[in-house]
Amino acid sequence: MLKDYYAILGISEDATLTEIKQQYQKLLLINHPDKQQQNQSQMTSSSTPTLIPLQDIKEAWEYLRLPAQRAFYDSSLKAMRLRANGQVNDDIDLDDMDFDEETGIYSSPCRCSGEYVITEDELELGVDIVVCSTCSLIVRIHYEIADDQDYAN
Ligand SMILES: [Zn+2]
Repeated sequence: MLKDYYAILGISEDATLTEIKQQYQKLLLINHPDKQQQNQSQMTSSSTPTLIPLQDIKEAWEYLRLPAQRAFYDSSLKAMRLRANGQVNDDIDLDDMDFDEETGIYSSPCRCSGEYVITEDELELGVDIVVCSTCSLIVRIHYEIADDQDYAN
Protein backbone atom coordinates (compact mmCIF):
# COMPACT_ATOMS: atom_id res chain seq x y z
CA MET A 1 0.00 0.00 0.00
CA LEU A 2 1.40 3.35 -1.04
CA LYS A 3 1.38 6.25 1.36
CA ASP A 4 -0.14 9.54 0.27
CA TYR A 5 2.98 11.68 0.40
CA TYR A 6 1.11 14.80 -0.63
CA ALA A 7 -1.13 14.45 2.40
CA ILE A 8 1.89 13.74 4.61
CA LEU A 9 3.60 16.92 3.45
CA GLY A 10 0.34 18.86 3.46
CA ILE A 11 0.71 20.08 -0.11
CA SER A 12 -1.50 19.93 -3.18
CA GLU A 13 -0.84 17.30 -5.82
CA ASP A 14 0.06 19.92 -8.41
CA ALA A 15 2.60 21.63 -6.16
CA THR A 16 5.80 22.68 -7.92
CA LEU A 17 9.14 21.14 -7.01
CA THR A 18 10.10 24.40 -5.28
CA GLU A 19 6.95 24.31 -3.15
CA ILE A 20 7.56 20.67 -2.26
CA LYS A 21 11.15 21.39 -1.30
CA GLN A 22 10.21 24.38 0.86
CA GLN A 23 7.52 22.41 2.64
CA TYR A 24 9.88 19.47 3.09
CA GLN A 25 12.53 21.66 4.72
CA LYS A 26 9.94 23.39 6.88
CA LEU A 27 8.51 20.09 8.10
CA LEU A 28 11.97 18.74 8.83
CA LEU A 29 12.56 21.69 11.15
CA ILE A 30 9.14 21.56 12.81
CA ASN A 31 9.26 17.83 13.35
CA HIS A 32 12.88 17.53 14.40
CA PRO A 33 13.11 15.69 17.74
CA ASP A 34 14.96 18.56 19.44
CA LYS A 35 12.43 21.03 18.14
CA GLN A 36 9.54 18.90 19.27
CA GLN A 37 10.69 19.06 22.90
CA GLN A 38 10.98 22.81 22.69
CA ASN A 39 7.56 23.15 21.19
CA GLN A 40 6.02 20.95 23.79
CA SER A 41 7.48 22.92 26.65
CA GLN A 42 6.39 26.22 25.13
CA MET A 43 2.91 25.39 23.98
CA THR A 44 -0.17 24.11 25.67
CA SER A 45 -1.16 20.61 24.68
CA SER A 46 -4.10 21.89 22.65
CA SER A 47 -1.90 23.89 20.30
CA THR A 48 0.79 21.25 19.82
CA PRO A 49 0.70 20.26 16.16
CA THR A 50 0.39 16.62 15.26
CA LEU A 51 3.89 15.33 14.81
CA ILE A 52 4.83 13.75 11.51
CA PRO A 53 7.47 10.98 11.65
CA LEU A 54 10.73 12.24 10.12
CA GLN A 55 10.92 8.96 8.25
CA ASP A 56 7.69 9.76 6.39
CA ILE A 57 8.81 13.27 5.54
CA LYS A 58 12.12 12.06 4.11
CA GLU A 59 10.43 9.24 2.23
CA ALA A 60 7.97 11.71 0.68
CA TRP A 61 10.83 13.89 -0.52
CA GLU A 62 12.64 10.89 -1.98
CA TYR A 63 9.54 10.00 -3.98
CA LEU A 64 8.64 13.49 -5.18
CA ARG A 65 11.98 15.18 -5.84
CA LEU A 66 12.65 13.57 -9.22
CA PRO A 67 10.10 14.38 -11.97
CA ALA A 68 10.16 10.92 -13.55
CA GLN A 69 9.80 9.23 -10.20
CA ARG A 70 7.05 11.61 -9.18
CA ALA A 71 5.12 10.96 -12.40
CA PHE A 72 5.36 7.27 -11.72
CA TYR A 73 4.32 7.74 -8.11
CA ASP A 74 1.36 9.87 -9.23
CA SER A 75 0.09 7.15 -11.53
CA SER A 76 0.54 4.53 -8.82
CA LEU A 77 -1.36 6.70 -6.37
CA LYS A 78 -4.14 7.21 -8.87
CA ALA A 79 -4.36 3.49 -9.47
CA MET A 80 -4.51 2.82 -5.74
CA ARG A 81 -7.42 5.23 -5.35
CA LEU A 82 -9.32 3.69 -8.25
CA ARG A 83 -8.85 0.32 -6.63
CA ALA A 84 -10.02 1.67 -3.28
CA ASN A 85 -13.14 3.01 -4.96
CA GLY A 86 -13.83 -0.35 -6.58
CA GLN A 87 -13.95 1.16 -10.05
CA VAL A 88 -12.54 -1.86 -11.81
CA ASN A 89 -14.25 -3.04 -14.99
CA ASP A 90 -12.38 -6.25 -15.71
CA ASP A 91 -9.66 -8.65 -14.58
CA ILE A 92 -6.69 -9.86 -16.62
CA ASP A 93 -4.07 -12.51 -15.87
CA LEU A 94 -0.52 -11.30 -16.41
CA ASP A 95 0.12 -14.58 -18.22
CA ASP A 96 -2.47 -13.59 -20.82
CA MET A 97 -0.73 -10.31 -21.63
CA ASP A 98 1.83 -9.75 -24.37
CA PHE A 99 5.32 -9.18 -23.02
CA ASP A 100 8.03 -7.17 -24.77
CA GLU A 101 11.35 -8.35 -23.36
CA GLU A 102 13.26 -5.39 -24.72
CA THR A 103 11.16 -2.73 -23.02
CA GLY A 104 9.91 -4.78 -20.10
CA ILE A 105 6.34 -3.80 -20.93
CA TYR A 106 3.25 -5.98 -20.71
CA SER A 107 0.27 -5.04 -22.84
CA SER A 108 -3.20 -6.30 -23.56
CA PRO A 109 -5.77 -5.00 -26.07
CA CYS A 110 -8.89 -3.29 -24.78
CA ARG A 111 -12.31 -3.83 -26.34
CA CYS A 112 -11.90 -0.33 -27.80
CA SER A 113 -8.87 0.16 -30.05
CA GLY A 114 -6.69 1.10 -27.09
CA GLU A 115 -4.64 -1.12 -24.84
CA TYR A 116 -3.71 -1.75 -21.25
CA VAL A 117 -0.02 -1.28 -20.55
CA ILE A 118 2.00 -2.05 -17.44
CA THR A 119 5.76 -2.17 -16.95
CA GLU A 120 7.85 -4.61 -14.95
CA ASP A 121 8.88 -1.73 -12.68
CA GLU A 122 5.26 -0.98 -11.89
CA LEU A 123 4.58 -4.62 -11.12
CA GLU A 124 7.52 -4.66 -8.75
CA LEU A 125 6.05 -1.70 -6.92
CA GLY A 126 2.79 -3.57 -6.50
CA VAL A 127 0.77 -1.67 -9.11
CA ASP A 128 -2.00 -3.93 -10.40
CA ILE A 129 -4.58 -1.45 -11.72
CA VAL A 130 -4.30 -0.14 -15.27
CA VAL A 131 -6.41 2.39 -17.13
CA CYS A 132 -6.91 1.87 -20.87
CA SER A 133 -4.73 4.13 -23.01
CA THR A 134 -7.76 5.30 -24.97
CA CYS A 135 -11.03 4.81 -23.11
CA SER A 136 -11.75 5.03 -19.39
CA LEU A 137 -12.03 1.31 -18.67
CA ILE A 138 -9.95 -0.02 -15.80
CA VAL A 139 -8.60 -3.52 -15.32
CA ARG A 140 -6.98 -5.30 -12.42
CA ILE A 141 -3.98 -7.44 -13.33
CA HIS A 142 -3.48 -10.65 -11.43
CA TYR A 143 0.03 -11.90 -10.87
CA GLU A 144 2.28 -13.64 -8.39
CA ILE A 145 5.18 -11.65 -7.02
CA ALA A 146 8.25 -13.88 -6.80
CA ASP A 147 10.07 -11.60 -4.38
CA ASP A 148 7.37 -10.77 -1.86
CA GLN A 149 8.91 -7.68 -0.32
CA ASP A 150 6.84 -4.90 1.17
CA TYR A 151 7.96 -1.85 -0.77
CA ALA A 152 6.71 0.61 1.82
CA ASN A 153 8.70 -1.11 4.52
ZN1 LIG B 1 -10.30 0.97 -23.97
